[in-house]
Amino acid sequence: MQLTIVLELLQPTKRKEAVMFSNVREVVKNRQAIASELKKGNTKLSSAHFKQSRLPSAVKNQNIREVKALYRLFKQSESKKENMTFKDNQPICFNNQNFALDGHMISFPLYDDKVRRFVFPVKQTERLTLLNDYMKQGAKLGKASLFYRQGKWYFAVTIQTKVNQSTNKQVMGIDIGLRQLAVASVFNEQNEEINRVFHNGKQVGFIRKKYRSVRRKLGKAKQPKLIKRLGDKEQRWMTNKNHQISRQLINLAVQEQVGVIVMEKLENIRQTARSLRRVDRSLHSWAFYELQSFIEYKAKLAGIKVVYIDPKHTSQRCSSCGVVKKQQRKRNIYHCSCGNHIHADLNASRNIAQIYNEQQSA
Ligand SMILES: [Zn+2]
Repeated sequence: MQLTIVLELLQPTKRKEAVMFSNVREVVKNRQAIASELKKGNTKLSSAHFKQSRLPSAVKNQNIREVKALYRLFKQSESKKENMTFKDNQPICFNNQNFALDGHMISFPLYDDKVRRFVFPVKQTERLTLLNDYMKQGAKLGKASLFYRQGKWYFAVTIQTKVNQSTNKQVMGIDIGLRQLAVASVFNEQNEEINRVFHNGKQVGFIRKKYRSVRRKLGKAKQPKLIKRLGDKEQRWMTNKNHQISRQLINLAVQEQVGVIVMEKLENIRQTARSLRRVDRSLHSWAFYELQSFIEYKAKLAGIKVVYIDPKHTSQRCSSCGVVKKQQRKRNIYHCSCGNHIHADLNASRNIAQIYNEQQSA
């Protein structure tokens, strides 16, 4: 399986950053020059054709590969444009021979007054840990690219992993919501629940309230910069929380030998959040989406398949007798005339797993 892991560089020094920007500008020019050569019909290109370009030859060669691929697409598109044009935020691409990864340090060549090798520390995030774990397991490095977005530098590394797709039969249904951020239930092949877990949203609600009241005060004091900074801080807090929850869910899935994780397609989550104020709704749908994508990404790394089902009926159906009725929910409890009284989000997570199982046996 091929995976791309995006690492964030720690803020480089002004001097290093100037070199990086100058190399990005050279890449733009070089790519444009390659495109012109291709238009002229010169397809046998090498770095030697672009002596004036102040870039490491490895980068020029990688540019040639990239631009050739793009040029093919450009020709196929039958565009009326004269030729391709490149935006000024082009990535600097390296093949696996030209960059090295050592713990949290990466190194690659850039053109300064001549070609030099630069070393950069990377932010020590869970992604870096994952990447290093994969390398230890024998994953192979593919190409990488350095790019700049909104004030930060990133290094995207592609790896070829040898993940074995799990053949386990257990199924985990995960319901994502507001009061309970995530409820998971694990079913075996006989359609019996063998484990469940709740991740409630109390702490998140508390943190949100705290930030909201501080923001309100800042708003009155007309402090937009501080408000923005606070928003970023809140988002980082939530992202970290989502990392924790997804990690714990995947650990449980591995422990219970889950082969498939089932979640709802996102539309339903927006409906669940309908009762909220608009500002909160967008925050929530962003956080829900992020949690889902973390679960998916970590599941895949563990060889667990991820499936999305239609959210229709998952909260209205009784997970015990299967009847579908509206308004079965009173506060957080799902009530059914069959005698099933359970936590509404647990009911939903059970339904998610069961609906998947039913679709498989149908
Ligand atoms: Zn029932």
